[in-house]
Amino acid sequence: MTPGAKASGPGPDEHVPVTPDWMCGSCGDEWPCAPKRSRLLDEYQADRASLSVYLGSCLAAATQDLCHAPVSSLQDRFIGWVPRSRRTC
Ligand SMILES: [Zn+2]
Repeated sequence: MTPGAKASGPGPDEHVPVTPDWMCGSCGDEWPCAPKRSRLLDEYQADRASLSVYLGSCLAAATQDLCHAPVSSLQDRFIGWVPRSRRTC
C-alpha cells in the first residue's frame, strides 16, 4: 500500500514517509517532520479541509502499520499539529 500521491516520484527533498515505520525519507524524523509540516501548510493553506482529509488517510494507514503505537499519540503526531484558525462547530 502506498499512501500519499507520488505522481512524479519522490526527490531527495520531498520528505515523503517511509513505511511501515513512517519515518521521513529525507531527514529521518518521525513523519510528518517539521519541514514537511510547513510544506503541507503552505500547500493546503487555502484548503485546510483537504489537508485534514489527506492527513486522516495517512493516519489511517499509519495506524495499521504502527499497530503497537497508541492511537492517541498517532492522532497527535499526524493531525494534532495542524493549527486551527477557527472552529466550525
Ligand atoms: Zn523530513
